[in-house]
Amino acid sequence: MKISFWGVRGSIPTPLSPLQIQNRIAAVVQRITPKDVISADAREKFLASLPEWLFGTVGGNTSCVELENDQGECIILDAGSGLRELSLNLRNRPVHTSGGVTYHIFFSHFHWDHLQGLPFFGQAFDPRNRIVFYSTDPDLRERLNYQMRSPYFPVPLEGPGGFNAALEFVHLGSEGDSLKIGGTLIRWKRVNHPGGCTAYRFEENGVSFIYSTDTELSREDFLDTPENRLFFSGADLLIMDSQYTANEALEKTGWGHSSFSSTVDFALTWGVKKLALFHHEPTYTDKKIFSLRQSAEWYRHYAGNEPIEIVIAREGMEMHL
Ligand SMILES: [Zn+2]
Ligand SMILES: [Zn+2]
Repeated sequence: MKISFWGVRGSIPTPLSPLQIQNRIAAVVQRITPKDVISADAREKFLASLPEWLFGTVGGNTSCVELENDQGECIILDAGSGLRELSLNLRNRPVHTSGGVTYHIFFSHFHWDHLQGLPFFGQAFDPRNRIVFYSTDPDLRERLNYQMRSPYFPVPLEGPGGFNAALEFVHLGSEGDSLKIGGTLIRWKRVNHPGGCTAYRFEENGVSFIYSTDTELSREDFLDTPENRLFFSGADLLIMDSQYTANEALEKTGWGHSSFSSTVDFALTWGVKKLALFHHEPTYTDKKIFSLRQSAEWYRHYAGNEPIEIVIAREGMEMHL
């Protein structure tokens, strides 16, 4: 399966400000020496030497992750503002421009940052397509319709002028159930977050991947129960809410998010192979977010030193599992 990140910020879209961009350009200019610009090669080398927070960004869009399974089916996790980027990208893929595609969109929950990209999912306006929405919330259909209702948005979800694709709404039953899309087995589990949130586990051809955003880890998540083992253990990739530093998590107990250190603890407990820190705090700069990888690495070393690969989720990142 192939995982692509289209939105990785938490809570609210966070574009770079004009001042931040000016400061970056000034910092880059300050680093240039004459030998860095004597040839195209030297320029490339110089750019590659810049720290990722200076030459890049984690991106400002809110949660949206794409899973393309081994049969090429398109599974979308959350519809944050990153969904618009995915929609634009799909326009350049031949399979998706010829129409007749089914898109499977799974919602973790219905906070704005997981929903606000949905009205901009262009493929939903193509009558040849089919969109299947999934949630553990029995009011899924009503929730989605409500947020596109006047005066909140000029175009409705269903009805005249609304989405033209065939729409289906699937209420996911109790934990322990599962469903299959092509060769991909999907399970779900409720996690700790104000108003509730659902994590998903995907398995295909011996590979497993967990998407667990908006999660305030608690003692129960670390208990060695059959349910926890079935859902959490041995994932090849875990994308997990790591919004805060350890200090900030203490100040924001009950806000529904985890610190990178508790996420690393969790990954160590459940034998995760690769951990992507996700749902970045909107008030943190790129410099601070990228520095969390080093801190998480240090903490992993201190907490058990298991060989978990830790990455900072950023827009445009792709992983093949
Ligand atoms: Zn969120
Ligand atoms: Zn939330």
